[in-house]
Amino acid sequence: MLEIKNLSKSFHENKVLDHINLKIEKGDVVGIIGPSGTGKSTLLRCINQLEIPEEGEAVFGGKTVDLSKKHKDSLEFRKSTGMVFQRFYLFEKKTALENVMEGLMVVQKKSKADAKAIALKELERVGMASWANHYPKHLSGGQQQRVAIARALALKPELLLLDEPTSALDPELVGEVLETIKNVAAEGHTMLLVSHEMNFVRHVANKVIFLDGGHVVEYGTPKEVFTNPQNERTKEFLRKMQ
Ligand code: ATP
Ligand code: MG
Repeated sequence: MLEIKNLSKSFHENKVLDHINLKIEKGDVVGIIGPSGTGKSTLLRCINQLEIPEEGEAVFGGKTVDLSKKHKDSLEFRKSTGMVFQRFYLFEKKTALENVMEGLMVVQKKSKADAKAIALKELERVGMASWANHYPKHLSGGQQQRVAIARALALKPELLLLDEPTSALDPELVGEVLETIKNVAAEGHTMLLVSHEMNFVRHVANKVIFLDGGHVVEYGTPKEVFTNPQNERTKEFLRKMQ
């Protein structure tokens, strides 16, 4: 469904991603793990074109998109992806419902009535329908993140990118967001999920990537990566995470 080829990204002298290759099938939930500063966010940001890599292609829907350049094809690819960040960038002056409606009206040019109907359904999916008319400041962090997930899903992305969606949350709120992501994954959405929650990755992902030193050091099923890692660096990382 999506293939990333030879993706390289540096910040000055710092080569963060060094010829990364990935293959994702439709319905895959790919967990990306690795030490802090190893380029996990940068990888998602390059796929979402928030960063422009020096080199790299995405093969998507039969088309090859050069990620190192901004052009029409890459914009189309970008529209097929949705991103959820560590911090939920909701519009403060808009209600939960209006936050979800915004992209539908602005990006997809839907009518207000259509946008509202879709947004309500998406809020329902993340268990936030009864909070539709509340403003972000009256929602808990976990609830805000669920609204952010609904907002991303409302645009029907073919690929959902989640960058540590629970790491800014108070511990007691992590569970509800993980539950939401688990439900979304179970519906068959294709996802790339960066997370430090090893137990969660193990249960929700069907593939796991261990990223370190700019490379995909280990790639396999959760069982292979967590129970029987081949690489010393993976073993060490997992030991530290326990
Ligand atoms: P964490 O687990 O802490 O979120 P990460 O794996 O997501 O880490 P990145 O945020 O992708 O790591 O950063 C990878 C490296 O790139 C780091 O050394 C970081 O300092 C550097 N970096 C990231 N963004 C920029 C930027 N805009 N300008 C300069 N350096 C950057
Ligand atoms: Mg990060």
